[in-house]
Amino acid sequence: MIKEIEISLLPEQLTVNSSYERAIAQIIRVPKEKINSFVVLKRSIDARKQKVQYRIKLMVYTNDSYPKNEALLPAQYKYVQNAEKVIIIGAGPAGLFAALKLIETGLKPIIIDRGKDVNNRKYDIAALNREHKVNPDSNYCFGEGGAGTYSDGKLYTRSTKRGNVNDILQKLVAHGSSSDILIDSHPHIGTDKLPSIIENIRFTIKEYGGEFYFDTRIVDFIIKDDKIKGVTDQNGNLFEANNFILATGHSSRDIYELLDRKKILVEAKPFALGVRIEHPQPLIDSMQYHCKSRGQYLPAATYQLVTQVENRGVFSFCMCPGGIIVPAATEEGQIVVNGMSNSRRNSPFANSGIVVSVELSDLAAYEKYGPLAGLKYQEDIEKSAFAFANSGQIAPVQRLTDFVKGKISSTLNESSYIPGIISAPVHEILPKNISMRLQKAFLAFDEKMQGYYTEQANVFAVESRTSSPVRIPRDQETFQHLQLKNLYPCGEGAGYAGGIVSSALDGVAVAEKIFNKK
Ligand SMILES: Cc1cc2nc3c(=O)[nH]c(=O)nc-3n(C[C@H](O)[C@H](O)[C@H](O)COP(=O)(O)OP(=O)(O)OC[C@H]3O[C@@H](n4cnc5c(N)ncnc54)[C@H](O)[C@@H]3O)c2cc1C
Repeated sequence: MIKEIEISLLPEQLTVNSSYERAIAQIIRVPKEKINSFVVLKRSIDARKQKVQYRIKLMVYTNDSYPKNEALLPAQYKYVQNAEKVIIIGAGPAGLFAALKLIETGLKPIIIDRGKDVNNRKYDIAALNREHKVNPDSNYCFGEGGAGTYSDGKLYTRSTKRGNVNDILQKLVAHGSSSDILIDSHPHIGTDKLPSIIENIRFTIKEYGGEFYFDTRIVDFIIKDDKIKGVTDQNGNLFEANNFILATGHSSRDIYELLDRKKILVEAKPFALGVRIEHPQPLIDSMQYHCKSRGQYLPAATYQLVTQVENRGVFSFCMCPGGIIVPAATEEGQIVVNGMSNSRRNSPFANSGIVVSVELSDLAAYEKYGPLAGLKYQEDIEKSAFAFANSGQIAPVQRLTDFVKGKISSTLNESSYIPGIISAPVHEILPKNISMRLQKAFLAFDEKMQGYYTEQANVFAVESRTSSPVRIPRDQETFQHLQLKNLYPCGEGAGYAGGIVSSALDGVAVAEKIFNKK
């Protein structure tokens, strides 16, 4: 017999085999000895009741043999060294997963990235945190693996209809991720594990004949008869191919400016902007798990909050339990914050972006920038945050209670942010319509999660790079750019994805379109 069932276990039973067998035997009504094997399909934490439990979906085998672990089967890659080239600009999740798919279809990916490979990139990340030096080509957003490498590595996506999420997760497992991501309802890898997984993906791509060019920033497109003939880098090197995937992410402002300058169609799109908030993790644990301490068996608790204030959504974004806040600027003179955590999520802090939807109607003052209005608005706020301390990557911070009351904090809470913090009127750094909505939303959030509004929390300016403020429009069917037919805008920077998995899915989808065109 093969049967799919759901059981509930206490956190301390999660790694105890006999607890599973007991629960299974009770549900399928057979003696424990008759259970041949079982496979965990999904697991999630159920914290709705006073006693927190894991809900676990299982496939149980009583007589049949154990199924093969498909994640360990090699994908059907072809050797592509002499095959037709496709140039991929950007080695983020979109670019890398497009490359893997191209190899499966028999096309040769040439991957170009402005940043360094993961090993060398880590020195720039260290210099950014410790010496406040922003390398405009190698930072938290740019370099091998893109913004996904030194990210939190949360893999949850709502984009399940846009492609095969399981395929992406299995490829991550095949390249070194724990197979837990295949069963957790909110899978997470962590920043300590991601670089080696990204490196392994590079090894696979190269092994099958793909090529990589790091430290290679694309600065121009050579266009003839509504087609891209080639792209050139900062040293004048020309890269030619029949098809180009543009997967440069949402922080590549120079690419949007280049497209706009060359009259290649781009358009403004809504996005979101706000602050990053940091609470002590034990406080979030006690609110979510209804207990004084989460103990040794439960993971750091997460939360997701959303409300409406004056016809605008205000919502939590990229919540990082047991994480740290990081400087995510891509140029000197900007302050941008984001969050990440390691695989064990064991820092004493919980952080999350809390952002307000920005509509095109909010950008009237930026009208003169045309499709780049949102980009300039975002940039101005990041510059104002920098101007406040005018000292490297030191972030302007306010206690949550002071932010809501609109007063400067005389002291701040301890924080995880390595470059340092300074007390500042964060409510004034942000545009009034954003601050006002955040102030009201924080009070509304306290009604949903009692204790959320506390003087033990800090708010940081600014969480500005949540999604792209610009779209690079493409045909809905063919995914070709509306104007340049051999250009495939892809991933978060093109405005068609948000997050690691959805960007990877978009990369796969674009690669399939290029293959199907042939
Ligand atoms: C700190 C942090 C934490 C995050 N945590 C999570 C998380 O937990 N879960 C999640 O789903 N998402 C997270 N994200 C967001 C996620 O990383 C992005 O959504 C995702 O990486 C977008 O993928 P992409 O391939 O479209 O673009 P990107 O990852 O942005 O990659 C773009 C690539 O293009 C390169 N590039 C840019 N311009 C040029 C040029 N001119 N020439 C050559 N190369 C260029 C860049 O160097 C970069 O490598 C996080 C982001 C950050 C910064």
